Amino acid sequence: MTIESKLSYLTGFPSAHQKTERKEGLKKENQKRVLASEKNQLLSPGLLWPSNVPVLGLKYILFSEKRDQVLRITASNEEQLALVRSLQEQEHLNTLLDEEKKEMILSRHKERSSQTFNYASYHTLEEIYTWMDTFVASSSGLVNKLQIGTTSENRPIFVLRVGINWELGYLHVDQPSNFQTFSAGGINRPAIWINFGIHAREWISPATSLWFANKLINEYGKDTSVTSLLNTMDVYLEIVTNPDGFSFTHTNNRMWRKTRSRHAGTSCVGVDPNRNFDANFGGPGASGNPCSSTYYGPYVNSEKEVKAIVDFVKNHGNFKVFIDVHSYSQLLMFPYGYTATKPKDYDELMEISKKSVTSLASIHGTKYRYGPILTTIYQSSGSSIDWAYDQGIKYAFCFELRDTGRYGFILPANQIIPTAEETYMGLMEILNHARQNPY
Ligand code: ZN
Repeated sequence: MTIESKLSYLTGFPSAHQKTERKEGLKKENQKRVLASEKNQLLSPGLLWPSNVPVLGLKYILFSEKRDQVLRITASNEEQLALVRSLQEQEHLNTLLDEEKKEMILSRHKERSSQTFNYASYHTLEEIYTWMDTFVASSSGLVNKLQIGTTSENRPIFVLRVGINWELGYLHVDQPSNFQTFSAGGINRPAIWINFGIHAREWISPATSLWFANKLINEYGKDTSVTSLLNTMDVYLEIVTNPDGFSFTHTNNRMWRKTRSRHAGTSCVGVDPNRNFDANFGGPGASGNPCSSTYYGPYVNSEKEVKAIVDFVKNHGNFKVFIDVHSYSQLLMFPYGYTATKPKDYDELMEISKKSVTSLASIHGTKYRYGPILTTIYQSSGSSIDWAYDQGIKYAFCFELRDTGRYGFILPANQIIPTAEETYMGLMEILNHARQNPY
């Protein structure tokens, strides 16, 4: 079996190493040329050999320099070939990550010189939090920012409330008493909950939420359905639901999914927040292994990010819609994930889903599948929308945005606006239905 010679920089996730490596690029190019002349070998200058990858009896040679290594592998059986392939995938990922980083830097420069926020780019948590304040300030009272909790690493968790007719006037996040007044039942308009980015690496989700929030504001007073919606219901947008995890994807590991909490009895960090809700907690489709990416956590609502949502939604008491936005797979789902039993509103939820994905596809032709979580993607216990539905929130949905795997979590920034445009159409079908069918 022949394996093509493969050359790459495999540096793991973006790190301080990269700068040094670019400087040393020329030196490495020469090195690669020498090594490339040898057949049937994978050559990976700069590879940081992951300690958890079995070497599988591969013939390999490590050339150690000061901070990086050159690895040369000769694969001679199927198992080794599989390893070589996974290394190539890693290389593909690194190329995407490099492009993503470059795009963000470029966009940041443009934003600084033009003083305008670029919705077509990905942003850090700090940039998004800054945007929130600017956005609220420019919304003519149509948007408020509320702090609903604090993360395990002490970051504030914010929700934007979009809607007209504030009985309480302007609420300031730095005054918890306002939140208490509010949650004591002062305002009780029927409301819509949409959270984004509960899984840290799903960047397209928060990016879509920023555009969505802006779109609602721009369409208010112009588009009749948006105007009616905001006149009668409050829309709560949790822009970054997992701030610690999101921040970690920018600084350490782009593929991080969970929270960043630490719990007794394990050195592994984080819990899957979308397995931590009180919906058949700890059941099938969630892991009890603290090191797993679908770890359900030590107990129900152990995650402060989850507890914040649960408390807020319960205290409010009048949510009619609960939507959790993820990526990727292009799916629109509703309960249940933990059981094959159909929800009692199955027919209506199917009908709304069909309308939603049809409307979504009308913009860019993006095709979605839809149905209950369990039959559409996989069984999962402890998920947010199953919990919401069992709380009596009938219109409970979960989106998996673009794409279907070509880029996966590293969806290029030039797809942010198209994704947001079509998702807006899909969301509005659900929200309009909820407005027109009060219960
Ligand atoms: Zn997700």
